[in-house]
Amino acid sequence: MISIKSEYEIQLLKIAGNIVYQAHQYIKDKIKPGITTKELDSLIESFIRSKDATPSFKGFEGFPNATCISINEEVVHGIPKNRKLKEGDIVSIDIGACYKGYHGDSAWTYKVGKITKEKEYLMYHTEQSLMKGLEQVKPNNRIGDISNAIEEYAVAHNLGVVKELVGHGVGNSIHEDPDVPNYGKKNTGPILKEGMVLAIEPMLTLGSPEIVMKEDNWTIETEDYSPSAHYEHTVVVTKDGYKILTGVLENGKERHN
Ligand code: MG
Ligand code: MG
Repeated sequence: MISIKSEYEIQLLKIAGNIVYQAHQYIKDKIKPGITTKELDSLIESFIRSKDATPSFKGFEGFPNATCISINEEVVHGIPKNRKLKEGDIVSIDIGACYKGYHGDSAWTYKVGKITKEKEYLMYHTEQSLMKGLEQVKPNNRIGDISNAIEEYAVAHNLGVVKELVGHGVGNSIHEDPDVPNYGKKNTGPILKEGMVLAIEPMLTLGSPEIVMKEDNWTIETEDYSPSAHYEHTVVVTKDGYKILTGVLENGKERHN
């Protein structure tokens, strides 16, 4: 069942989303060659806790850390560890925070120093695919309109769409109905209504979209080791469109990037 949030719930979701946004702001300058993903995770966890919130992913289905940090060919669910970032990496950081029982969820891919043109291309167009999906969020559109917009944009730019992993509703749980796939047909799926809260999160690849699970049973990476990017916002459906709860858009461009 897809829940419609009350005004009070949306206020709490806004606070949770804003804590996630601030956590991204806080960490982005610390992403440099030499820092470990575990150090980034600890900094983000302390930041979230300093805002009277808790990290949504810690313990969720047994996940051991506060954040998911995935490097290069890793798509999602990377476990923070003692691996150091190095010049030329791209790193996707997925952050969830829970405030008074309500969650925010946002992932962003960052570059580490100077990266290849191919990785720049992947990052830019994956972010743009998220924006294309967001443009479809308004009452009476359907989930399939979001999915189709993301897929069409990705395909037009020769990027692979990971199909096994999808966006989702957000509320009292970090993952609620409905699923929001990054591929699909227009005018299909649940109808969007004011007060629904969705996490939209394209995961695109430079090569094959096929994925495999690593030995740690969490980290998902591309089968062909091609790089992958991941951009995610939590949004609320409003009377005539949407509002991003986990960030700020200015002229169609995310402010923090
Ligand atoms: Mg996420
Ligand atoms: Mg999510």
